[in-house]
Amino acid sequence: MKHISTVGRTKEILESHKFTFKKSLGQNFLIDSNVIKEVINKANIDQTTGVIEVGPGIGSLTEHLAIHAKKVVAFEIDQRLIPVLDDTLSPYDNVTVINEDILEADVPAYIEELLGDCDDIVVVANLPYYITTPILMNFLTARLPISRYYVMMQKEVGERISASPNSKAYGSLSIAIDYYTEAKTVQQVPKTVFMPPPNVDSIIVELKTRAEKKVDIDDEDTFFKLTRGAFLHRRKTILNNYQTLFENGKKRKDEIRALFDDAGIDPVRRGESLALEDYKKIYDAFKKSDL
Ligand code: SAM
Repeated sequence: MKHISTVGRTKEILESHKFTFKKSLGQNFLIDSNVIKEVINKANIDQTTGVIEVGPGIGSLTEHLAIHAKKVVAFEIDQRLIPVLDDTLSPYDNVTVINEDILEADVPAYIEELLGDCDDIVVVANLPYYITTPILMNFLTARLPISRYYVMMQKEVGERISASPNSKAYGSLSIAIDYYTEAKTVQQVPKTVFMPPPNVDSIIVELKTRAEKKVDIDDEDTFFKLTRGAFLHRRKTILNNYQTLFENGKKRKDEIRALFDDAGIDPVRRGESLALEDYKKIYDAFKKSDL
């Protein structure tokens, strides 16, 4: 039988189950086996790997994952797809489909229960684009035992995730991702490999979880409040932005200047010019200050 990820088979499955796409759930299904094979190749999946997939759709990517990995756990929110997946994935006994919202699911418990005997756990997904950032941040902040991520997303989000300082795409998301992972874009994906084609361009991003912290932060909420604060107004200096960030900041300009002085960071710089290590210096100075 032909792979699910072909135009003919996809059309056949959609028709036989009378399935209609829900745009609000980001339903754009892959119809190109080559793109899927490349992702699987890059992700270096073998018979010892456990894979978590977010949003299996009708199973286009899931089928290839099932063939290559030891086990696959796939979270799908759309109840209408559960009987479809029961049907399309019936040849594979190493796949568990969970009909839950990925933002609500108890992922650590599922990992322990279903992937506990895998040597290595990897996330591979063509993500629902409308919630790319919350999905990734939920996974990363929970410090799940996942060694790497190969995820397809909207190109602009992928560029922000993997951006370096002094680039247009660099911001607080790039810093958060750099804190948890080593990120890089792997390849661009044309709209034509999806059914229906999305309105936006897509990109595959690789995130390798850092085994050791790049900077040591004990209060991550505060640290990310400081990094986000530096980008409140992109074109403004960090001094101006922090005057807005802190209560009575305008009156406490000297205290804020002293914070940057202590950190050894010029207060007229902009947030986009500072690397993760610079924010760590600001964080250390903040902890010593009364701000
Ligand atoms: N993996 C399939 C493929 O590549 O053909 C489908 C990818 S499609 C871009 C995204 C999938 O995520 C859809 O099947 C959609 O129903 C599902 N989805 C959307 N929101 C979700 C959520 N909060 N939790 C789990 N799945 C979700």
